Amino acid sequence: MCDIRYGFLNEATRFALVRDCLARAPYEACGVMLGDFAPGRVVASGYALVRNAAGSPERAFRFDPDDWAKTYGQTQKNQRNIVGLFHSHPQGAPSPSLADRLGWDGWGSYWIVALQGGQASLHVYVRDQAGRLRPVELVVVP
Ligand SMILES: [Zn+2]
Repeated sequence: MCDIRYGFLNEATRFALVRDCLARAPYEACGVMLGDFAPGRVVASGYALVRNAAGSPERAFRFDPDDWAKTYGQTQKNQRNIVGLFHSHPQGAPSPSLADRLGWDGWGSYWIVALQGGQASLHVYVRDQAGRLRPVELVVVP
């Protein structure tokens, strides 16, 4: 995953993801990004929400185990690849929190939807060889 330089996302998926994250504010929304890896990039073509079962969902996320099992089964059935995790930051921070940095152990890419005043910005990260989260450029395509 270290060679990934870009995260690609189509506009329709971006729009729906932002809408779903805004609808769950002030709680964090979370789930998985679906798509494919290509040389130098991760290409997200969809996503699946997973219920946030964190004790303090306004500042943390944790996949609800039952909902996660259901979502995972659905992606397998539909032959979709999971290429990363996403979650929202209702308080607007675009970068991973300390818990994000410590808690994520793979999954290819890490997407943060930062919400602010009804608007949203997306940020994509991958782990470098030292295990640190490194931002990659997001490219929104039609
Ligand atoms: Zn976070």
